[in-house]
Amino acid sequence: MLCPHTMSGQTVGVLGLGGSGMAAVAALHAAGVTVFAYDDNKPDAALPNGTIANWHDWPWKKLDALVISPGIPHLHPAPHPAAARAQAEDVAIISEVEIALRAAPTAPLVVITGTNGKSTTTALIGHCLTTAGKAVAVGGNIGRPACSLDDPGPDGVIVLELSSYQLETTPALAPNIAVILNITPDHLDRHAGMTGYIAAKSRALAALPADGTAILGQSDITVTQLARDCIKRGVTTLLATPDKAPAGRQHCLALRGDHNAENAAAAALVLHKLGLSADQINQGMASFAGLPHRLQPVATIGPISFVNDSKATNGTAAATALAAFSHIYWVAGGLAKDDGLDAVMPHIGNVEKAYLIGSSATAFASQLQGHCPTAMYHNLDDATYAAFDDARNSHTGGTILLAPAAASFDQFANFAARGDAFCQIANTLCSRTGDAYA
Ligand code: ADP
Repeated sequence: MLCPHTMSGQTVGVLGLGGSGMAAVAALHAAGVTVFAYDDNKPDAALPNGTIANWHDWPWKKLDALVISPGIPHLHPAPHPAAARAQAEDVAIISEVEIALRAAPTAPLVVITGTNGKSTTTALIGHCLTTAGKAVAVGGNIGRPACSLDDPGPDGVIVLELSSYQLETTPALAPNIAVILNITPDHLDRHAGMTGYIAAKSRALAALPADGTAILGQSDITVTQLARDCIKRGVTTLLATPDKAPAGRQHCLALRGDHNAENAAAAALVLHKLGLSADQINQGMASFAGLPHRLQPVATIGPISFVNDSKATNGTAAATALAAFSHIYWVAGGLAKDDGLDAVMPHIGNVEKAYLIGSSATAFASQLQGHCPTAMYHNLDDATYAAFDDARNSHTGGTILLAPAAASFDQFANFAARGDAFCQIANTLCSRTGDAYA
């Protein structure tokens, strides 16, 4: 655990008791901090006596900081009332990652951010370091909360995936290497528009010390501009273009597609900077298993394959999936995001038909009109069954691809629940119809 001992004796409020909030409470307790914690949806969370208290009743005049969950707005579209109170009382609003960094771990720190590809790149770097025999701790916005990691020491590495929300509230950030993969419109309501979103992501670069290294993708105009700014500032800047993807990627199914070439290139630049040899990097890439819900092969029956890309929660991410296959029976829709379907359009020729669900279905149908056949369904089951029927009747088969281009929250708890549901439907369909292809 990363305990911020310099905060010993302070009084801190923790708002939001999901994984990161609970980890912050544990680290703060262990550091000798007096903690008051609350979650509007879990007023009875299991914590030591005296810790849980409604934020209205916290000793606001004594608070040194408010640790806020990344999912709770502290500025836009409107601050949670406790965040508004913190601002009125001049209490600093910080993230759980800030708590971890105040523990001053001795391992070099790599941070990964961007609109898409963060988790893949973070997991890939962690995997390659592990296979090369380095001590590594991976967490943040992926897997384990930062506070719950152990410091791997000066010869090891801490790799943190950070969201725009975490970057906004982590003033102690001083990474040795910062990666920004890409920046396209997303979460704009939380940042009052694109300018605020770019500013939050750019914190990863602004936080670099003089001897730090910036690694930037080059797939959109925002990151290309950020790279130019870094070079002007005299920061060591490396460009993660797909041609820099190491050869080992070719042996890894989970890293197919141009977008993954960009992720692999960024990872390779990080790994090279950390001292891994080309052989070590290639071996790591070749044995990377990938993450569930990202272009995850689910099941195949005859000429039909099911692919789960439930994590494609915006148009840009879905576009990369549509670019990676042909004869696609595309299951899409959900809670629409800021970037709509514009990025998808150049690849729409790969789509046989779109099966639309969720609150964005009508808007998606009208945007796709004239580009590909569409039909609307009440739920994921109906859409996937219909896609399967059409794929079977086509004789050529193809890929039944869940790449929603939208968030899941209108019909599912999260993207993983949506992906799991799709996998279950796919497996049921394949086992039921197995005989037809025997
Ligand atoms: P994040 O953690 O940023 O959401 P993931 O690695 O989980 O990123 O991937 C999320 C989605 O984005 C997946 O559907 C994947 O296919 C797509 N994706 C991954 N890398 C990129 C990239 N570099 N550019 C665009 N889309 C990407």
